[in-house]
Amino acid sequence: MSELDLEVVDGLKLSEEHRKLLRPGEPVEDENGNSHRLPRFFFSVPNWKRAHEIKLASHFTLAELMTVDCREADLLLEEFPHYVPCAVTLIARYLEDLRREADAVILVGANGGYRSPVHQRNEPKSSHCWATAADIYRVGSTYLDDEKSISKYADMAQSLGPQVFARPYTQGDDHLHIDLGFIAVTPRNWSEE
Ligand SMILES: [Zn+2]
Repeated sequence: MSELDLEVVDGLKLSEEHRKLLRPGEPVEDENGNSHRLPRFFFSVPNWKRAHEIKLASHFTLAELMTVDCREADLLLEEFPHYVPCAVTLIARYLEDLRREADAVILVGANGGYRSPVHQRNEPKSSHCWATAADIYRVGSTYLDDEKSISKYADMAQSLGPQVFARPYTQGDDHLHIDLGFIAVTPRNWSEE
């Protein structure tokens, strides 16, 4: 168990079918051709009810950061338990800080939190596979779908710390992507041997 009252699992001990999809600890290339090892340790989420109950931060539930639609390509990943990388707690903390700074609710879209390596929007692999990224589509009553709103909240997100990257506006954007880079968390009491 973790502090979240969720079982932690070592991805290397999952079934072969799951390992094939989640590829724990395996190197993959990002959009710049840099290699990163996919996360190895996951929270095992037993059902949606628990995901909605569990607060990663005062105003963010686990469910908000693991909702995906049919683009999660493999049916096995729609079954419970769902496996979510342990670093998901970190991005929730930054979203909470952003909420405080903006003094408004922060809404993360479907497919805007954790996405597995086989998710169709993860080619090439992005920090969403590490659960360290969030796609924000609305802040308070403001939809982030133009340069003015996206730039405003990108600046605000980056002001939270040097580890925060906020993607600058490009034409047609309908959300703000923020991430913390490629952080793979080894929970305390777990060994990487
Ligand atoms: Zn994103």
